[in-house]
Amino acid sequence: MTTVVMLNQQHPEGELVDPSRPLISIEDEGLTRGDGVFETMIAVNRSIRKFDAHFERLTNSARKLQLPLPAKEHLTQALKTALENAEQAHTTTLGEEHTVKIIISRGTTANGPHSWVTVAPTPQNTLDQRTHGVKAITLPRGHDPAQDTAYPWLLAGAKTLSYAINMAVLRYVRTQGADEAIFITDDRRILEGATSSVIVAQTINGQKTLLTPEPNHGILPGTTQGMIFEQARKHGWELKYQELYPQDLLESEGVWLASSVRLIAPVTHLNGTALATSQQTTEEFLAFLAEE
Ligand code: PLP
Repeated sequence: MTTVVMLNQQHPEGELVDPSRPLISIEDEGLTRGDGVFETMIAVNRSIRKFDAHFERLTNSARKLQLPLPAKEHLTQALKTALENAEQAHTTTLGEEHTVKIIISRGTTANGPHSWVTVAPTPQNTLDQRTHGVKAITLPRGHDPAQDTAYPWLLAGAKTLSYAINMAVLRYVRTQGADEAIFITDDRRILEGATSSVIVAQTINGQKTLLTPEPNHGILPGTTQGMIFEQARKHGWELKYQELYPQDLLESEGVWLASSVRLIAPVTHLNGTALATSQQTTEEFLAFLAEE
């Protein structure tokens, strides 16, 4: 069962509501047009990880769509209420894990924008991908999203509710016997996963190095990738933001898809070819993410 707290003028700090009741107007433009923004976060032992990074990205997304952002203290209170009332979830090596969402919708013409937060136990199959890994295939993105950054109405870098493409991608890859997609440009440059950032490990001149594509060039800046890089630097890894191609992934010592709830999924196969994997490095990344 999902726990829901809605923020509105009467309850700016949020009100716990019954999710089995109708809560959203049939004319809500978050629903009818995907016009809104969101964040998906992980809570461990009912405490949200890297909240400030998520709040910063939500602020950025809301500004791009000219949507009002709830005050940080109101949002924090609404999240606290939802977490306190959430049902018991699986306990992993990290602790009890919930998936937490913040949604800001355009709402209706009559009532305007509104927000809500949800908390639900993280599904077991999401947790399993950390240990089992994922098979990925590269899929063309159609055009280089870096070109969109010049046009603010294309909302590059905003995490909007319009995720129908990302979900269609996941359905498509399943028909191909894979679990995940990695988007590439027409010149085969690596971009990001459908709902994740790509991290590659290589030893360069004897130095263990993590690589990822430059996050602000039309791809979503991942908070998980950011956190892993921040911790990795403290633990002796060199970091590089650079152009990567499928060949770099095939020749690497490991490729991972990073996102807030799944955390880190090792890519075991790329386009059917087995990749090198390192359980030790996967565990090191998980430890980085547990350090907060
Ligand atoms: N890229 C896309 C397109 C995403 O949807 C996501 C997460 O949902 C990410 C990257 C990873 O972001 P984060 O690590 O902040 O969850």
